[in-house]
Amino acid sequence: MKSAPTIRPGRTFQLEDFPTESTAGFKDKDAARARLDKDLERLRELQHMLYADGRYALLIVLQAMDTGGKDGTIRHVMSGFNPAGCVVTSFKVPSEEESKHDFLWRIHHAVPPKGVIGVFNRSHYEDVLVVRVHKMVPKSVWKERYRQINDFERTLTESGTTILKFFLHISKAEQARRLKARIEDRSKNWKFSEADLKERKLWSEYQEAYEDALRECSTEWAPWAVIPADVKWARDCMVARAMVEKLESLDLRYPKPQTDLDLIVVK
Ligand code: ATP
Ligand code: MG
Repeated sequence: MKSAPTIRPGRTFQLEDFPTESTAGFKDKDAARARLDKDLERLRELQHMLYADGRYALLIVLQAMDTGGKDGTIRHVMSGFNPAGCVVTSFKVPSEEESKHDFLWRIHHAVPPKGVIGVFNRSHYEDVLVVRVHKMVPKSVWKERYRQINDFERTLTESGTTILKFFLHISKAEQARRLKARIEDRSKNWKFSEADLKERKLWSEYQEAYEDALRECSTEWAPWAVIPADVKWARDCMVARAMVEKLESLDLRYPKPQTDLDLIVVK
């Protein structure tokens, strides 16, 4: 299968040049499903080893335009994990208490401890995306945040937190289809929000903010992957594969038993 492109540190690019529509090299949904099932099985083993090994945490950051598929990705990919070792955190408009602290305060609190997988549904990147597009702070403030984010992510990485960042990349036409489906399909009505239509009008401002965030904050220690996300089943496969590859690269191992088991007899 084809893996999703990763932004190389320092590279300039336009999101338009990245595909949104990809089947990841699968001939159909069934072929992709078979592969996803295998990767989910492998992820379960790797999660178990991550927990037993105890040296690392895995942090997954999910960002996307509205209707981009963050929830669907969590449902289809993260559902494979043992819930005891996987924590999903959704970041909304900061609470009164949160806004009295620096923007990374609430984020740091939610970072998974060693042995655990943490999933961020939205993240600290909102502070250079929605906050920038809606001019909630002056440019001089959000500009500094790229460096602050890189320093923060570096600190986490050096303390054993492996970070994977996925931008679920959909086209504007696909967003229109998904918004219409939320209006027409009764089981999706509850997801419809007029605010999403307002945000859609700011599509190009958001794309520009994403380009800057991905360029400024794709680092050696925490690179951004741009997942083509118009085709949901391909999106899930690419996210799962990137996670398998990352966890396999950690050289996880089960710790040695504390006593010589050959000497132990269970009567
Ligand atoms: P989603 O749209 O991700 O599925 P949701 O619809 O369940 O989530 P919303 O309340 O629509 O929930 O989404 C959270 C909102 O909070 C988004 O509009 C997001 O931009 C906003 N948000 C998140 N973090 C911040 C932040 N740091 N500053 C301002 N707004 C933020
Ligand atoms: Mg929303």
